[in-house]
Amino acid sequence: MWFKRDLRLQDHKPLKLACESELPAFLIYLFEPSLVADPHYGTRHWRFVMQSLLEMKDALEKQGHHLFICFEEAEPFFRKLHESFEIVTVFSHEETGIDLTFKRDITMKKVFKELGISWVESPTNAVQRGLMHRNGWRKTWNSIMYAPLEQPDLSRLKCVDLSDVSLSQFNQKIPEEFTNEDSRFQPGGISHAHAALESFVYRRCADYNASISAPGPARTGCSRLSPYITWGNLSIRQIIHFLKANREHIPHKRGVNSFKSRLGWHCHFVQKFESEPRIEFENLNRGYDDIRTEWNEHYFEAWKTGNTGFPMVDACMRSVVETGYLNFRMRAMLVSFLTHHLWLHWAKGSPHLAKQFLDFEPGIHYSQFQMQAGTMGVNTVRIYNPIKQGYDHDPDGAFIREWVPELRGVPQELVHEPWKMSSMEQQMADCVIGKDYPSPIIPDIKASYKRASNILWSKKGSSEVKQENKRILKKHVKKR
Ligand SMILES: Cc1cc2nc3c(=O)[nH]c(=O)nc-3n(C[C@H](O)[C@H](O)[C@H](O)COP(=O)(O)OP(=O)(O)OC[C@H]3O[C@@H](n4cnc5c(N)ncnc54)[C@H](O)[C@@H]3O)c2cc1C
Repeated sequence: MWFKRDLRLQDHKPLKLACESELPAFLIYLFEPSLVADPHYGTRHWRFVMQSLLEMKDALEKQGHHLFICFEEAEPFFRKLHESFEIVTVFSHEETGIDLTFKRDITMKKVFKELGISWVESPTNAVQRGLMHRNGWRKTWNSIMYAPLEQPDLSRLKCVDLSDVSLSQFNQKIPEEFTNEDSRFQPGGISHAHAALESFVYRRCADYNASISAPGPARTGCSRLSPYITWGNLSIRQIIHFLKANREHIPHKRGVNSFKSRLGWHCHFVQKFESEPRIEFENLNRGYDDIRTEWNEHYFEAWKTGNTGFPMVDACMRSVVETGYLNFRMRAMLVSFLTHHLWLHWAKGSPHLAKQFLDFEPGIHYSQFQMQAGTMGVNTVRIYNPIKQGYDHDPDGAFIREWVPELRGVPQELVHEPWKMSSMEQQMADCVIGKDYPSPIIPDIKASYKRASNILWSKKGSSEVKQENKRILKKHVKKR
């Protein structure tokens, strides 16, 4: 049983199959050095994984089972293991991941075939492999979600006697930073996932619709389940079953209904990536390939470090770097600022944010990046004004002051546009613009809006974009 981004012991088809197989079972998690080094991932992710694994290991050991964790690439690991221990079948979930895991899986398919090992993969959530169109997709989603949970009967698991296998040949030294605590981030693990689900459904959900757009209130008002879903501490079906079983006792049904529809979006976006993984590197709509061809490293650095001189942009970037979380609208605004106002290509910005988001889910991430950058063609062009977003979603500037300490002394009415302070006001606020806090990186936000809007709308009308739209609608959207 090869665990990947499915770090739980319930509603787990591969584990269920392993329990039922009657074969001696060996449960494995591999920290793959190439994946650990990949620019999309950072210590925050591997720490979350380690926390999840330790909880699983503990639960398994209580039932007399083992979970073997090591720091090895998949191919040499399975080849070496097979030399000392005959592998009959490998059970795992299908993974819709970045190019690196996609290529790893292609290699592993060949390796398992060559070694005579059968590889039994089960679908993840409601994502379907090899899908050619979306007709009937929603119906299938419902039937998968309301089907019984795939519950492994761990009492039937016959864990292999580890002394039979020479395990010393494998690197079991896990980098120390993966095991350190860091209270800035949500902790990983099944029990934390269930606690977040319960506190959201019974209590926090009361403010869901009201707080979803504001970066401060969203921290407690949204479910915060995304990392638990991404790393598989909870399956989406477990959440749907929980909602169904408790529907009589749910106090805030409206919020829960909005939340529930987003669980469908989750699979919808991952499905898009599963069907067209090239969108990690290329525009979904090829009609946009000739825009944003120039690069400005100074702009990029300012965006990455939260030093653009636009308080809401900087607060959002600094908070996600510090905590691993940002609500949907502010993620969209960061991408909008990068791609529309700074006019930089989305492809360079996406690994940076992936590395910050504790919930990095390649399918959602790349689809959303392209949607916000306006390179899908089929969606309307949306360009966020970061100053307006500040006034709308952080009216008293509390979020800005929390994350941009340079602006703490700035009066409330100027905190969204600190460059409007007179030099006397700057001195009194202990914030000299251009010295203590940057001047706006682009002098005229209306002009950058206009440039992006003109280019994108004129592209949208072009024959190349329209032609591509037909292909995209056929592949990713169901027929009406
Ligand atoms: C540029 C950009 C990148 C993003 N990258 C990711 C990512 O890597 N991983 C990720 O899980 N979400 C991503 N999102 C979507 C969304 O921002 C997060 O899912 C959400 O903020 C997570 O917080 P929550 O669990 O409290 O969400 P809730 O609002 O409580 O939603 C519940 C669940 O529904 C799903 N969901 C919510 N919104 C969306 C959405 N718009 N699209 C698809 N699924 C959604 C998530 O699984 C989420 O956990 C991205 C959005 C943007 C604009």
